[in-house]
Amino acid sequence: MGTETNYTSTSLNQLAHTILTGFGCNSDEATIIADHLIDANLTGHDSHGIGMLPLYGDQVRDGNLIPNQTPTLHEPIGAISIVNANRGFGHRMALLALDHAMKSVPEHKVAVLGLRNSGHVSRVGTYSEYCAARGYVSIHMVNVVGHPPLVAPFGAREPGFSTNPISMAMPVDGKAHPLLDIATSTVAFGKVRVASNKGEQMPAGCLVDSDGIETSNPDPMALNREGALSAFGAHKGSGLGIFVEMLAGALVSDDTVATMEHLPSGVINNMFSVIIDPAAFGSSDDVARRTTEFYDFIKAKPAAVGTKEVLLPGEPEIQNRTTRTHQGVPVDNETINQLLECGAQFSLGKDYLQGLLQKQD
Ligand code: NAD
Repeated sequence: MGTETNYTSTSLNQLAHTILTGFGCNSDEATIIADHLIDANLTGHDSHGIGMLPLYGDQVRDGNLIPNQTPTLHEPIGAISIVNANRGFGHRMALLALDHAMKSVPEHKVAVLGLRNSGHVSRVGTYSEYCAARGYVSIHMVNVVGHPPLVAPFGAREPGFSTNPISMAMPVDGKAHPLLDIATSTVAFGKVRVASNKGEQMPAGCLVDSDGIETSNPDPMALNREGALSAFGAHKGSGLGIFVEMLAGALVSDDTVATMEHLPSGVINNMFSVIIDPAAFGSSDDVARRTTEFYDFIKAKPAAVGTKEVLLPGEPEIQNRTTRTHQGVPVDNETINQLLECGAQFSLGKDYLQGLLQKQD
C-alpha cells in the first residue's frame, strides 16, 4: 500500500501554484486554480485536488488546455447566457461564466448558463458554493467529453457516458449552505486514480472489467481505461447521467460523448447551470428560514445503527475542511512523484518542488 504524508495546505497550494506557472498560467490564474484544487483536497475530494495537475500538464503540452485563455461571452438572450471557454482552464472559465450569467439575475430573477468547450472544471460543488455565497440557489450539471466514455448505462456492459456530475446548493445565512455534489457514477473517476496510486482496492459495486464482470481492481481502469464505472442507484443514476449528457451536451454544446472526437489526454467539460434568486419566491429570508427548519428536522433524526450522526449533504466537506486545515492534507507518495515528474517536464527542478512541501506538525 502507498505511504501517505500529511502536508500543510499552504505548502500544497504553493506547489500547485508553482507547477501551474510552469504550465504558463499567469499568477492570478494560477492562484484561482491552486485555490480550487487545494480546497477540493481540504473538503476530502482528493480525486479533484492537486493530483489532477499531471493530467493538466499533459493537456497543456498536447494543446488541448490553454493557459490564460479569454472566454467568448455571448450577448445574453433573455435570461440565457452562453459562454465558450475556448478550452481555457475550467476553474477560472466557470467563475467568469457565472459572473457573466449572474448579471441577468436582477432583471429576470433567474439565469441559465451554458458553458461550452471548457477545460476540466474539477469540483463542481465550488460553483454551487460560489452562487450560494452570493445569495442564489443553483443547480449545475456537467458532461465530460474528449475521451472515451467511462460509465456503463444501466443494462450495458460497455461505457456510454462519463461521470457527469450534478451539484446544487441552497443559500442559508449564518449556517453552512446545504450542498449536494455528486458524480452520477458510483464514484468519480479520480477516486479510481487515487486508489490505484495508493495500491488500494475499490469498494464493491463501483467497477466492472471489460467482460462486464464486477471487479475491485482499480488499475485496468486507472492506467488503461479498461472496463467501466457503474452508475449509482441502478437505472435511476444511469437516467440522471444520461440527462446530464443531454442538457450539458446536446442542449449547451455542439457535441455529446457520442460524436465528440477523442483528444490525446483530453477532458472537455460543458456545464448547464440554473441560478435562481430566492427572493422571487417571496422573501429570501423566508426561504432561508424554511431551509434551516428542514435542515434541523433532518439533523434531529436518530442515527441508524452503526452511524454516528445524520449528516446533511455538504456537512462532510465542512468537517473535512476543519480537520484537514488543522491536521494537514494526506497525499500519497505516488501522487507526489507524479507531481514532481510533471513539474520536471516543464523545467521545474524536482528538488526545488520537493523543498516547497511542508509536513504538518
Ligand atoms: P461522493 O460520493 O463523495 O459524494 C459527495 C456528496 O455526498 C457531497 O454532497 C457530500 O456532502 C455528500 N455526502 C458524502 N457522505 C455523506 C454522508 N455520510 N451523509 C450525507 N451526505 C454525504 O462524491 P463523488 O460522487 O465521488 O464526486 C466527487 C467529486 O467529483 C465532486 O466534487 C464532483 O463535482 C467531482 N466530479 C467532477 C467531474 C468533472 O468532470 N469536473 C466529474 C465527476 C465528478
